[in-house]
Amino acid sequence: MTPHAVTKAVGSLWEKTAPPDPSDPPLVGEHKADVCVVGAGFTGLSAALHLAEAGISVIALDVECAGFGASGRNGGQVLPGFKWYPDELVGRYGASRGERMAAFGAAAPALVYDLIARHGIACGLRNCGWLNAAVDDAALAVQTSRAEQLARRGAKVRVVDRAEARELLGTGRYCGAMLDERAGALNPLAYARGLATAAQRHGARVHRGSAATNLARINGRWRVATVGGAVSADTVLLCTNGYTGGLWPGLAQEFIPINSLQVATRPLPDKVRATILPRGHVVSDTQRILLYFRLDDEGRLIMGGRGSLGETSRDSLFRFVEDAACRLFPQIGRPEWQFRWSGKVALTADHMPHVHELAPGLRSCGGYNGRGVAMASAMGRELTEWVRTGNAETMALPPSPLQPLPFHGMRRPVLEVITAYLRLRDRLSWRGSPGGAL
Ligand SMILES: Cc1cc2nc3c(=O)[nH]c(=O)nc-3n(C[C@H](O)[C@H](O)[C@H](O)COP(=O)(O)OP(=O)(O)OC[C@H]3O[C@@H](n4cnc5c(N)ncnc54)[C@H](O)[C@@H]3O)c2cc1C
Repeated sequence: MTPHAVTKAVGSLWEKTAPPDPSDPPLVGEHKADVCVVGAGFTGLSAALHLAEAGISVIALDVECAGFGASGRNGGQVLPGFKWYPDELVGRYGASRGERMAAFGAAAPALVYDLIARHGIACGLRNCGWLNAAVDDAALAVQTSRAEQLARRGAKVRVVDRAEARELLGTGRYCGAMLDERAGALNPLAYARGLATAAQRHGARVHRGSAATNLARINGRWRVATVGGAVSADTVLLCTNGYTGGLWPGLAQEFIPINSLQVATRPLPDKVRATILPRGHVVSDTQRILLYFRLDDEGRLIMGGRGSLGETSRDSLFRFVEDAACRLFPQIGRPEWQFRWSGKVALTADHMPHVHELAPGLRSCGGYNGRGVAMASAMGRELTEWVRTGNAETMALPPSPLQPLPFHGMRRPVLEVITAYLRLRDRLSWRGSPGGAL
């Protein structure tokens, strides 16, 4: 690949462009609340906001600050649904539960749009649509079947052919795409901080610098200890996702945290910018190790994906994604990369989020498999309804037993082998594409 412009790329684009962190100072002393939320990402913040709106007292804690984890670092693509499409959900969970889950997933972006509108969250929301770009004919056939399943259930989804995909994407690499009009784009850190502010306005507290270090059951309540204080609560919601530590045995072992990388160019010259995603869609492709990309409001190209294996330095780690961007869009030439950042995506063995009642009043939710902007927001509301009604049946996604992965400690070498294998298969899928593999 051609060399890149010398760059001083630092940190996250979102950190640079979001409003300041509104979190409360670190927790000090003993406190009481109906609910203690551990982890202030979309799941925890949406739960805190909905709980506070329902008049339930809530204290949220984060190791760092609101949106520190995946929620403040992601691609900002507001996507509907789960990894499994409606017919697959019906096949796995039965007609009644499967359709309920499909409807829940379909409605998740609308919940985000509603939260943003109701609470006046300035996060650059665009209701722009999502292109799921197909690498080869086999992938396009799958997209066609998925589009048909979704359209049958009333979603505004259609398949675009190679020519239209070229026009909408600004690259001729893909042989078509599924276009889902329900999706949107936002600045995820601004959205997370906006949720925190809204929750605070309704009486919740969201404490930064407050790692939960211990959980103890005392006289029928939970005591969540931090370094400087503690919260006594009837219910604890563990919303720590890919950043889960050892707070509860087995919970971290359920997730495979994968580092996902993003890079952003400086704002592109108008003439170049006009040739890339001219209608402002957000995109991910059908590779097994996928690429995802979009423009921001200033015309930066943001590209996300996994790094190459065996990277030896921070630069080479990001270079893989930058090179893919240059191959995909040769019109950007050798751009200056202004931002580079990464975050942990929580994968699960069944590609579905997991909800648990770990002990009476101790609940967890996480594992969105890279599709959590809308889903985690929606799950925060679901967790609230569970607290409010005491009935887990109110949730579309029912609680399941904790299933720590065997050999979790061996995940790194195992993942390296799996990633290398999937990359090889991806390379083979590109054989029909003009220009070959990315
Ligand atoms: C690089 C990247 C790109 C992505 N792109 C997209 C996308 O475009 N669209 C999409 O839908 N999804 C995307 N995702 C997934 C999405 O960001 C997540 O699914 C979602 O943000 C999960 O939210 P969460 O609140 O469950 O977890 P997180 O946001 O990860 O929050 C967990 C929080 O828990 C805190 N925590 C951990 N342990 C403790 C403790 N002991 N005490 C207190 N706090 C603790 C952490 O500090 C963290 O802030 C992406 C993820 C990444 C990493």
